[in-house]
Amino acid sequence: MRFLILVTILTSFFTVTPISAKFYTNVSSIPPLQFLNATQNAWETFSKLAGCHIGEKIDGLSKLKQYFHRFGYISAAAVDNCTDDFDDVLQSAIDTYQKNFNLKVTGKLDSSTLRQIVKPRCGNLDMIDGVSEMNGRRKLRTTERYSFFHGKPRWPKRKRDLTYAFVPQNNLTEEVKRVFERAFTRWSEVTPLNFTRSESLLGADIVIGFFSGEHGDGEPFDGAMGTLAHASSPPTGMLHLDSDEDWLISNGEISRRILPVTSVVDLESVVVHEIGHLLGLGHSSVEDAIMFPAISGGDRKVELAKDDIEGIQHLYGSNPNGDGGGEKKSSRERQTSGGDSLRRWRGCVFSLPLVATCIFFICF
Ligand SMILES: [Zn+2]
Ligand SMILES: [Zn+2]
Repeated sequence: MRFLILVTILTSFFTVTPISAKFYTNVSSIPPLQFLNATQNAWETFSKLAGCHIGEKIDGLSKLKQYFHRFGYISAAAVDNCTDDFDDVLQSAIDTYQKNFNLKVTGKLDSSTLRQIVKPRCGNLDMIDGVSEMNGRRKLRTTERYSFFHGKPRWPKRKRDLTYAFVPQNNLTEEVKRVFERAFTRWSEVTPLNFTRSESLLGADIVIGFFSGEHGDGEPFDGAMGTLAHASSPPTGMLHLDSDEDWLISNGEISRRILPVTSVVDLESVVVHEIGHLLGLGHSSVEDAIMFPAISGGDRKVELAKDDIEGIQHLYGSNPNGDGGGEKKSSRERQTSGGDSLRRWRGCVFSLPLVATCIFFICF
């Protein structure tokens, strides 16, 4: 059983060899060309759909339907053979999207909705099986908007010390790894959880890697901007980031707004968000929350909001050594092995030839 689990863990990492991502330590180190590309966005062609409404047929609407399907707003059955017609399915998707993102619910492709759609974002779904947890149920008397995965999966009580490891092929520097360390600490400060870096990929609870395009889990990345990263629910422990982004590895002391351009993504901001998924949180409709699905390029958001803290403490309780805002410091850099390796990764697509590759890796 453990052997099969290990195969499952590793398969997605060898479908496509992870490549080195582009990291910039500060704004001045970014080549001028990157600034020229500031307006590029994987979904910028949607902008021409402004003003479109039900009953119309316009080139590009089928791609927009694919976008909504990508994030759970349109079912797989409804998107099969989809057309460029603005139909009831698309209008319903837009309604729900507008509600989730605190936009005026018009059912039309107004400019504010399109501005939100083209923003880079997390690749995880906003809706699962047609159900939105972001901004719909409970909540009449409260402001909470945090959500969980279906079934509210979380790391078991016996797992309060979690380990994480980096895919070795990325050859990440210590400077990059410290960004992840800071991000994990933000969550450990408000929970009983501790995170320790492991040099052993096989023994780690959480495995982190940068990948480009299709990388074996059925959720390909899309080049610069668009989707930035995605992460699994507990206890799978996989965090994937798009190596085609231009990642800024700031020192953690810069202001929230870091750039007037949108071509560079703050790594720590994205990692803090994805760790929320790894621990069991879904997306939130609170725009200041870490678990809000989108972040503008050039923006920096790393501080947990009240909504994030309430959500994570619902799953794990507060930090027994802190004040809820968190004083506990996680132990780090400890060499570890072993660990709970039951992995569950929504949407993974594995192929047999890759299993052979993983067996080779395990043995040698
Ligand atoms: Zn997310
Ligand atoms: Zn992935």
